[in-house]
Amino acid sequence: MQIKLTFLGAAQCVTGSCYLIETGDTRLLVDCGIFQERELLERNWAPLPVSPETLDCVLLTHAHLDHCGLLPKLVREGFRGPIYSTAATNEITEIMLLDAAHLQEEDAEFKRKRHQKEKRKGPYLEVPLYTVDDAKACFPHFSPAGYETAVSLGKDVEATFFDAGHVLGSSSIKIKIRQNGEERTIVFSGDIGRWNKPILRDPTSFQQADYVLVESTYGDRSVESLDDAASKLADTINATVKSGGNIVIPSFALERSQEILYFLNKFLLQNRIPHLVVFVDSPMALSINQVFEHHPELFDEEMTEFMRQGSPFSFRGLSLTRTAGESKAINRIRGTVIIIAGSGMCTGGRIKHHLVTNISRPESTILFAGYQAIGTLGREIVDGAKEVRIFGQQYPVTARVEHINGFSAHADRDELVKWLSGLRQPPRHLFVTHGESETSQHFAGMIKDKIGWNVVVPEYKSQVILD
Ligand SMILES: [Zn+2]
Repeated sequence: MQIKLTFLGAAQCVTGSCYLIETGDTRLLVDCGIFQERELLERNWAPLPVSPETLDCVLLTHAHLDHCGLLPKLVREGFRGPIYSTAATNEITEIMLLDAAHLQEEDAEFKRKRHQKEKRKGPYLEVPLYTVDDAKACFPHFSPAGYETAVSLGKDVEATFFDAGHVLGSSSIKIKIRQNGEERTIVFSGDIGRWNKPILRDPTSFQQADYVLVESTYGDRSVESLDDAASKLADTINATVKSGGNIVIPSFALERSQEILYFLNKFLLQNRIPHLVVFVDSPMALSINQVFEHHPELFDEEMTEFMRQGSPFSFRGLSLTRTAGESKAINRIRGTVIIIAGSGMCTGGRIKHHLVTNISRPESTILFAGYQAIGTLGREIVDGAKEVRIFGQQYPVTARVEHINGFSAHADRDELVKWLSGLRQPPRHLFVTHGESETSQHFAGMIKDKIGWNVVVPEYKSQVILD
C-alpha cells in the first residue's frame, strides 16, 4: 500500500483544516479552510502548498470557514474538479463564502485608504484575498453527496459522508482505498458535534478504521450540559426582564442563532419566559434559517416533532430584520427585547450598534453563547474589561455580562472519547488534529495512557505514509 497523507492545516492549531491524500491514481483534499489565528494569517496569502490543477477533487466536511474558506483561492489558481459535500453544506458554504469575500473586499479597501492617509505600505498588497467573483466561481464545482452513500472518486478510492452532528449538513468522511487487492480505510472526523443537541442528529461513530484523524478543539475540558445552558439562558432572560433592560446576544449566523431561536420558542411555549419580541438582526442568519427550512430531513426526532407544532424560525414575536434602517429602529423601542445579531465575537456587523446602545446600561445584559477568541471585542467584554472601544469611542461596561459555553458545537473531552470508543479495534494510527497545540497533546497523551493506541499529533506540513 502506498498512501501519502499530508497535514496542510489544523495541525497544532484550530483553523485552516486541509489534508492531502495521494494514492497511486488519485490526489484529493479533505477540506480547504482559511487560517483565522492572527499569527497564522500569512499562510492564507502564501502560495498554495499543492498545485490546484493536479487535484482530482475536494471533499468538504462542513461550511465553517476554517474548513472551506480557501476554496475561492484554490479555484482561482486552477482547481477544476468537483467539490463533494452534502447539499446543505453546499448551500451554507455559498452563503459563507459570499459573506467572507465581501468582507475581504471591504477590508482591502479600508486598508488601502488608511495606508494612503498614513502615506505607508502594509506587509501585504492592498487587494482582497479573494473577491465575490472568485467565491461565485466555486459554486459550479459543488457536487452534492448524500449521507451514507459511497461516492467513487477514481479507480482506487471511494468516500462516504456520515452525519457529524456539528452544524447542519456537517460530515465525518470515511475514505476507502483499494490497491493490489488490499484495502485501507481512513476516517476524517471533521468537527464532531455533541450528543442530544437540539435540531441536529447525534454524531456518527465508526466501528472500523485503519487510520483516524480526530479533532480536539475541546480535548482538554468538559463543557456544561445543554440542559444547564438552557436553564441559564431562561434565568438570564427573566432577570433582565425584571431589571427592564434588553438582552443582546452576539451570535454566529450558523447553528448558534438557530439553536437559540429553538430554545426561545420552546421557553415561550412552556411559559418559562414572558412573551417578548425577539429580533434576529443578521441577514446571514436569516439566509441560513432558510437552508434549515429546506432540509427538514436532517433534523433529529425532537425537532421533527417540534416542527409539527410550528417553526422556531417563524414564531409569534419573532421579528426578522433585513435592512439597516430596520436594525437602527430596534434601538428606539422601550421595554425589554431580545436582540440576536452578528458577528459572534463582536468583530464586525450589526452587533456593534446594539452594544453601543446597551453596554453602558446596567439594566441590560450582553449574553455570549459561543467561543470568544483572544484579541476580539467579545473576549475583552467576557474577560471583564471596565471600558471598551467601539467605533473609535470608549464606553464603560456597566451592563450585566453572561457567558454560556454549553451551546458549544464541539464535542468535549468525554464526548470525543465516546466517539472514538465506537471502534472495535484500535486503528493503526490515530492522528489528533484541529486543536491548540497543548490541547491536542493533552488529548493524545490521555488516549495513549488510557487505551494504549498509537497516537500522533502531526505538525503543519508533515507527511506520513499509510501502509
Ligand atoms: Zn466547525
